[in-house]
Amino acid sequence: MSMERGSLSINSENIFPIIKKWLYSDHDIFFRELISNACDAVTKLKKLEGMGEVSLPDDNEYKIEVKVNPEKKTLKFIDNGIGMTADEVKEYINQIAFSGATAFMEKYKDKANEEQIIGHFGLGFYSAFMVADRVEIDTLSYKEGATAVRWESEEGVTFEMSDSDRTERGTEITLFLNEDSYEFCNEYRAREVIEKYCSFMPVPIFFINENAPVEEEKEEEKKEDVVDAEVSEDGTAADVKEEKKGPEPINNPHPLWAKHPNECTEEEYKEFYRHVFHDYKEPLFWIHLNMDYPFNLKGILYFPKINTEYDSIEGTIKLYNNQVFIADNIKEVIPEFLLLLKGVIDCPDLPLNVSRSALQNDGFVKKISDYISKKVADKLSGMYKVERENYEKFWDDISPFIKFGCLKDDKFREKMKDFIIFKNLEKKYETLPEYLEAAKKDAPKAEETVEAAEASDQKDEKKEEKQVVYYVTDEQQQSQYINMFKEQGIDALILTHNIDQPFITQLERDNDKVRFQRIDADLTESFKEETTGDDAKALEEKQTTLTELFKKVLNKDKLTVKVEKLKDSKISSMITLSEESRRMQEMMKMYNMYGMDPTMMGTEETLILNANNNLVQYVFDHKDADNTALFCEQLYDLALLSHKPLTPEAMTRFIERSNEIMMLLAK
Ligand code: ADP
Repeated sequence: MSMERGSLSINSENIFPIIKKWLYSDHDIFFRELISNACDAVTKLKKLEGMGEVSLPDDNEYKIEVKVNPEKKTLKFIDNGIGMTADEVKEYINQIAFSGATAFMEKYKDKANEEQIIGHFGLGFYSAFMVADRVEIDTLSYKEGATAVRWESEEGVTFEMSDSDRTERGTEITLFLNEDSYEFCNEYRAREVIEKYCSFMPVPIFFINENAPVEEEKEEEKKEDVVDAEVSEDGTAADVKEEKKGPEPINNPHPLWAKHPNECTEEEYKEFYRHVFHDYKEPLFWIHLNMDYPFNLKGILYFPKINTEYDSIEGTIKLYNNQVFIADNIKEVIPEFLLLLKGVIDCPDLPLNVSRSALQNDGFVKKISDYISKKVADKLSGMYKVERENYEKFWDDISPFIKFGCLKDDKFREKMKDFIIFKNLEKKYETLPEYLEAAKKDAPKAEETVEAAEASDQKDEKKEEKQVVYYVTDEQQQSQYINMFKEQGIDALILTHNIDQPFITQLERDNDKVRFQRIDADLTESFKEETTGDDAKALEEKQTTLTELFKKVLNKDKLTVKVEKLKDSKISSMITLSEESRRMQEMMKMYNMYGMDPTMMGTEETLILNANNNLVQYVFDHKDADNTALFCEQLYDLALLSHKPLTPEAMTRFIERSNEIMMLLAK
């Protein structure tokens, strides 16, 4: 072929500044583009081979090589795929790619914001110019009698084409890195990028550092071979030979998700998890997605073990397109609650070269997302039905995820609603209906009558029965209440996670027959002794006296004090705060409405004093004694302590006062 020169047909001077700017945040993506082009070239040839269109030598092994040369500052991408003829180079490299890039520029020129695009697909080969001043292609087509072609271009603006001395089928692309991009010929940096994008590409990738001291290593290997040969005599030859088979590819061309679930072992799933997520904790269980119709989707979703005390729950879902990594955690494709899991999803049908906002409104993408969420619900409900024991064992770890899913996704909630379980005071797991049934039997008094929420109805005189579900948010702090409940044989649910508050609100919305109430919201009748006649009168007197006394001592004018005869005489004082008020307080905290006066919102606490308790009786009998104020303050703080954490000032005061009281004893 004679030397040919020309100018590229469109104004590429305008394109590259934009492409460079566009991809600024992830310059390294050219690795993915060039290696996936090489994969495509191999795949195309494999197809032709499969169809009998070409015959290749028996020892043909498809592979890709990436060579870094830190001294020359070059990078090479070499494949033994389909190659290109001169005409194909003209068509695919000179024209198509450029027009593709123009279209790309046209489409996105107003929104040059890298957040917009997901895959950066379609940019392909020309992404090389983000990091290289000069790019060369040497290619030899698989076609019989083809001549090798060399293509070179400076800055991607003009090109030269000539004959190449390449003798092997396939394509070699050489990048002469620009000064700003020298990092990419550093072996470790290059390996890191390849691992990020190409770990599962379908063709074996071999990494070579052309400047590494190869010769010495070879000498070493030879010596070892001699030793191996000796070893081989005692029958271990096969094993040893296996190990000496030559360099290993740096990728895994057959990722587990591509295999049929029936062919995967438990150990393989765990190994894959460790390898991909670098998580030393074993996953609890996993879901292997494998779908061909109506769309193509494969993947594995793992439920990680959560250490709630230290970890925030944060998952990673890696999205692939035909084994080419696209990005982590693409909210548009993967339902938000699934991002708490760890997993991989490969979906070749996804239109990944479009903008995120377009994906969001894409019906097809919605279907994919729905499918994934349905599969997860199926797996969980199946587990509940068939392996309830395991389900319960995993519950504490998976429940935040399930509850979040229920809050975020109505369909998921609908599918999961019968499979939500709760831990009770006995540490047994039960569903809400199971709890309600048992509660009705054990303590009919736990049922309360509350006004129907829908007062709009004109029959508003009618009162509706709602069953109260008691719950604990902090087992340590609320232990006094828990003990009282246990003694009276009343059960409560343990709901200690942050997600539980919004979750129970949702449950109340869905079940208008239940009302959740924290264990310290009120004193139910079952804790009190019945008082009649003289007893009641005496109690009234105590009520008046003690209210006045505590208000004065604590200097809290608005404090509500209630004197009750509690069955358990060991309890001296308690605080209750109505469920509504507490929720209101929490909401205010959440929205940072600290400045507001809580009493305006009716969020006062009630101090309950137990008339059956000796200390309370003592205070009543000695209301004018010197130390009575100390007792009152201490009783109030003790009650507060099992209700919520004390403020730093209150805590300091509490400790000082405790010391003071002990000094009184020591006298
Ligand atoms: P895309 O990969 O999105 O089609 P590119 O600009 O990356 O766009 O490549 C344009 C075309 O050049 C490819 O479609 C392919 O036909 C050809 N090509 C690129 N790299 C190779 C290669 N390594 N071997 C054979 N053909 C290639």
